[in-house]
Amino acid sequence: MRIHTKAVHAGDRKKPGDFIPVTTPIYTAASYFYERLEKLDRIFAREEEGYCYARYGNPTSAALEELIAALENGAGALACCSGMMALQTALLCALADRPKRVVAAEALYGATVTLLNSVLEPLGVQTRFVDPCDLAAVEQAMAEHRPGCLLVETISNPLLRVPALDRLGELARRFDACFIVDNTFATPLLVRPIELGADFVVHSATKYLAGHGDVLGGLVVCRGEFLETLRALGRTCGPVLGAFESYLTMRGIKTFPLRVERQCANARTVAAWLKRHPRVERVHYPGDPDHPDAATVSRLLPEGLYGGMISFEIRDAGREEVFAFMDRLRLIVRATSLGDVHTMILYPAMSSHRELSPRQRQRMGIGDNLVRLSVGIEAPEDILEDLEQALS
Ligand SMILES: *Cc1c(COP(=O)(O)O)cnc(C)c1O
Repeated sequence: MRIHTKAVHAGDRKKPGDFIPVTTPIYTAASYFYERLEKLDRIFAREEEGYCYARYGNPTSAALEELIAALENGAGALACCSGMMALQTALLCALADRPKRVVAAEALYGATVTLLNSVLEPLGVQTRFVDPCDLAAVEQAMAEHRPGCLLVETISNPLLRVPALDRLGELARRFDACFIVDNTFATPLLVRPIELGADFVVHSATKYLAGHGDVLGGLVVCRGEFLETLRALGRTCGPVLGAFESYLTMRGIKTFPLRVERQCANARTVAAWLKRHPRVERVHYPGDPDHPDAATVSRLLPEGLYGGMISFEIRDAGREEVFAFMDRLRLIVRATSLGDVHTMILYPAMSSHRELSPRQRQRMGIGDNLVRLSVGIEAPEDILEDLEQALS
């Protein structure tokens, strides 16, 4: 089945009785029982599939898990209460029986860096950060640090670099490390990291997958060999996503391929327009032929599908000029997050990269004139008109 078909069919239309609901209902029960206690006993013993207690699983989140596993071509999945919880669970699972060391991309989502440095490091997990687009540097870091896990994002934030996942997958295998890919920015429409050698794929479902800015959720998909441990962690630590959120996420996912196609098409239009604009100094966009990872992009991403994210630098602007530009926007929403149906804008120096010193930001290439745009599904002309009136 193709991804558009899977998105609307996988996981759904299970038969709870002699009727079949067209969508999976929201099961709010905290626990389940059966006509004969014998069956509950077998379910507790995991000799039989079934439900006994909500932390152990729930039919609504199970449907969502089946859906995302089908979309990412993984063996199974765990729905979590946030993207951060999904990342934490994937890391715990990957490191369960491996050296407590991580090699991670240096431009990760801010809270992921905090998770590694402020939560896992005090517990004894040491992380070495490296530029994932520099394969020689990654190889050297793997050889020196001997990690239990390699962690990268498909498309980095906010400069939208695209590491060679296939090559990184080979390196992870060579050094016997688990490979975790945060695929939030790309979605399985653009790339399915498990097909390229990843062991775990993580999503903040809050973004493109749910897509409507109305739910917080996370997903971990894994290869078969990790599924047992992933489920055990779910039962013990209880990172699970509630039934209402699971339902909303599943509802969102049914249209995600259509939305992301439109967001990619709109982003192509907006990026080309920004590139020609006299007030724009530089555009960071994976579909740009001058992008530093253009070769990887053309090898790994489908033609025309380069994501809905664009970052750009406003000529001769500092914080004050950027604020003035953003305050003039009428349609584009000035809010944190991304991947929603509406176009959103964010100022990394103020939000995602606020904790860094201006020098650290400068070193990472994040200037005070850089803004990040998450392009929505609106008519592209309206997005351009809003940008034009705010830039002039
Ligand atoms: C938002 C985001 C996260 C965290 O997800 P939450 O749902 O906010 O917990 C992780 N990684 C990336 C790339 C994100 O954009």
